[in-house]
Amino acid sequence: MAKKVLLVYAHQSSGSFNAAAKDAAVKALKAQGCTVEVSDLYAMKFKASATAEDITGEVQNAEHFRYAEETKLAWKAGKLAADIVEEQRKVTEADLIIFQFPMYWFTVPAIMKGWFDRVLTLGFAYGHDKRYSSGIFKDKKAMLSFTTGSQESMFSANGINGDMNVTLWPLQNGILNYCGFQVLAPQIFWAPSHITTAARKTMLEAWCARMQGLLEEEPLTFTPSDCFDGEKGFQLKPEFHEKHANKEFGLTSGIHLGKPLPPYNQMKVGV
Ligand SMILES: Cc1cc2nc3c(=O)[nH]c(=O)nc-3n(C[C@H](O)[C@H](O)[C@H](O)COP(=O)(O)OP(=O)(O)OC[C@H]3O[C@@H](n4cnc5c(N)ncnc54)[C@H](O)[C@@H]3O)c2cc1C
Repeated sequence: MAKKVLLVYAHQSSGSFNAAAKDAAVKALKAQGCTVEVSDLYAMKFKASATAEDITGEVQNAEHFRYAEETKLAWKAGKLAADIVEEQRKVTEADLIIFQFPMYWFTVPAIMKGWFDRVLTLGFAYGHDKRYSSGIFKDKKAMLSFTTGSQESMFSANGINGDMNVTLWPLQNGILNYCGFQVLAPQIFWAPSHITTAARKTMLEAWCARMQGLLEEEPLTFTPSDCFDGEKGFQLKPEFHEKHANKEFGLTSGIHLGKPLPPYNQMKVGV
């Protein structure tokens, strides 16, 4: 069956390298018969801040407005703002979501953070018993595709910015894996502004080549939620601690058990 891909894109300029990466993805995926929808956040003037205006009509407690709880009620009652409802429809229909963006301050641009805050609402995207490997989107895939200003060496374990695997943990674990998505390895376009045109073309060609098997790729490894004890503050269960005691590296970049981080844990499959 033809797959549906949602591309959430955040760049202001159609002449940018991010635009080229987005256009290349749309073309390559459509050529394979995929249906592709693009949410061009700046063109849409997507609202970035999570506020009470995201709910139509009265909120339950205006005095002490709580975004997660109020949006859950509004989602159930069909009272979420139209732009959120439309993005949630796209998420529901998608088999794969690609987030295409330039890295801003070690994370996504504010407009894309706003998309996460406002679209992935409580009830729709996660619940207290529906998260991580029991997450709502466990049958969907998601991935980050982004450009940096920094060279690759700056984001290494002994580089000035620190290990990229650490930088990726909040986005890939805290958002995507938290909502249950199978997280594909990120596509990182290192410093496109500081390389030759030929090198940029080579990066785009590699992206197009990856696209051929993208929907069949295995996801990154995260520790399943049933390895943690809900009765004991969601700590790793003793049997998994014991099982891992003699291993050289931690479980993941985040759950490292005081050991060295497993190399490339957030960047490559099978590590
Ligand atoms: C607020 C802010 C915070 C930032 N924080 C960080 C940070 O924390 N870490 C970090 O590393 N960087 C950071 N940066 C830098 C930022 O990540 C880079 O500037 C950005 O990723 C570069 O991507 P771009 O698409 O904007 O490049 P562009 O400058 O648009 O493009 C690069 C080059 O590619 C060319 N190009 C366009 N299309 C094609 C094509 N089809 N084929 C070949 N070449 C093409 C363009 O003409 C240009 O010469 C930050 C920037 C800002 C503004």
